[in-house]
Amino acid sequence: MVVILLGPPGVGKGTQALQLAESLYCAHVSTGDLLRAARRDRTQLGARAQSFMDAGELVPDKLILDLVSEHLGAIDSHKHVLFDGFPRTTEQAVGLRTVLKDADRSVDMVVLFEAPNETLVKRLSGRRSCPDCGSVYNTHYGPPDLQGTCDRCGGGLVHREDDKSETVQRRLQVYQEQTAPLISFYEGGKAPLARVQADRDVEEVYADFQAAVEVHT
Ligand code: ADP
Ligand code: AMP
Repeated sequence: MVVILLGPPGVGKGTQALQLAESLYCAHVSTGDLLRAARRDRTQLGARAQSFMDAGELVPDKLILDLVSEHLGAIDSHKHVLFDGFPRTTEQAVGLRTVLKDADRSVDMVVLFEAPNETLVKRLSGRRSCPDCGSVYNTHYGPPDLQGTCDRCGGGLVHREDDKSETVQRRLQVYQEQTAPLISFYEGGKAPLARVQADRDVEEVYADFQAAVEVHT
């Protein structure tokens, strides 16, 4: 099964994907995480992506599709795949179909997470991430036991540069302009799309997410 988690930055896609990945044999593919890893490892891709990410713009489609295609090749073909933050443009969605077809797969469903902008801004302002293990916390909703330190691995937590307020506004605009058109792309018959109201507690959102995915497993 291949599931796309669609929705604006800060809506909780990563949080929900990590929960589902605990109960299902699946690979969680976050292009944002892959790009941040490339930057940390100082690869050529990381260097090329840096200025786009810092400005809150999308990294060019070709770079993203090459990255996903390479990463997908390394995933066990029996695993379910959860795409988080990908695709983000119609061109990526079309490219994904080709990449999946080569692997004898297709998109089984899209889950669209929705929340008002004020919720997204508050969540992003409070998000604290662990660069070492990928755990995510929130100063408003789910702080770590010890401020600034990851409960899971003891790493130092960071407030992502692109989660600061000026960049957040641009990222929300980019979502509306370049990513939201994917809703009608998929609703137009490319794959079933389920909407989940994400402006609720993590557990309530998860119950709806899990129910939507179960229909297709
Ligand atoms: P995305 O992957 O969509 O950008 P995240 O999963 O990283 O979003 O969540 C953004 C921030 O909001 C994180 O700090 C996370 O801990 C927090 N968060 C996620 N889901 C909820 C929720 N249902 N209620 C409150 N805070 C949440
Ligand atoms: P995220 O962690 O999903 O919020 O992504 C952080 C940043 O990485 C985005 O603001 C983009 O600059 C870049 N990025 C992540 N995924 C993609 C994608 N599928 N297409 C283009 N840029 C991406």
